[in-house]
Amino acid sequence: MANIVLVIYKAALNALYFSGLYKLLSPATRGEGIIFTLHQINNDRVEDFSPNSILKITPEFLETTIQTVKAEGYDIISLDELYERQKHGNKPGKPYAVFTADDGYKDNRDIALPVLKKYNVPLAIYIVSDYSNHQGELWWFALEDIIKNSSSIQNPYNKGEMLEAVTTEQKYRAFDKIYWPMRKSNQQEQRATIREMAETHDYDIDALSKELVMTWEELRELNKEPLITLAAHTKSHFAIARLSEDEAVEEIQTGMEIMEKELGEKATHFSFPYGSNCAANSRDFELVKQFNFKTAVTTRKAVLYEEHKDHMMALPRVSLNGEYQSGRYIKTFLSGLPFRLKNKWQKLDVE
Ligand SMILES: [Zn+2]
Repeated sequence: MANIVLVIYKAALNALYFSGLYKLLSPATRGEGIIFTLHQINNDRVEDFSPNSILKITPEFLETTIQTVKAEGYDIISLDELYERQKHGNKPGKPYAVFTADDGYKDNRDIALPVLKKYNVPLAIYIVSDYSNHQGELWWFALEDIIKNSSSIQNPYNKGEMLEAVTTEQKYRAFDKIYWPMRKSNQQEQRATIREMAETHDYDIDALSKELVMTWEELRELNKEPLITLAAHTKSHFAIARLSEDEAVEEIQTGMEIMEKELGEKATHFSFPYGSNCAANSRDFELVKQFNFKTAVTTRKAVLYEEHKDHMMALPRVSLNGEYQSGRYIKTFLSGLPFRLKNKWQKLDVE
């Protein structure tokens, strides 16, 4: 089902591009600028079974994106400058693009940074304190690995059910059957369930963050790079909207305190884990105000308009992901048009 939605969405994006409609309407719909979301940037071979590959782009595509954005006349700026421009008004005729990356993956430094330096492009990286402590659960990667390495798997949400996982198709089916209930379940239980699965399948879940995520020592070193801003992304990577108010405050605050202790400075920008409508909502946009962040970002898809200056705790972003690795998608995204169409022509989606 997810694939059909993707095919339709891509067809729609292509229609907007090839009809030239994006270009025609862009002056009215492109707004002040755009914030891009990245996760991993690497050339890891995409295997037949790679359900998380949408969270990965190649360094070549990162470079294409930077070139496309520049060619379209955009300034590429930091989050601090975005804050200034939103607060005090943007330069006329000078839209901006901001690059952000979630979770603190090592390849942000090893593979993305050389590309960013070549073009003098700033990057904000959002840190999950558990992952940088090499604790916690990158459960979506663990689930992929466990299914990749198994020929059958027990459905933890229907204990009697054994899911065949021999062919790629069966592996995808097993992943879909477990991923969504896991994402939606109580988050303490979610983490216990993935740990239980890891144990059953003799899979070392703690090795994942060690392998993928930068340590504090590495982050302190990276923080010396003028192009890099390190920002907050909670302690455990729980969907904030699904926590009580007290739990939500504690998740954000503890993550920030650990960051401050390790890096010697307070985070001034924030990213909501998952960031979708079910993971961050109006209660949470209010709630994060107490932390005095300059900006807080979601993964609600849109470009930024002047009106966002009153909603700096609910900024939209557009994912640069494995499914859209082509310059024409970037041009269509910059126009803001696909998001206006999806949001019933509304500029703001902040409830
Ligand atoms: Zn994240």
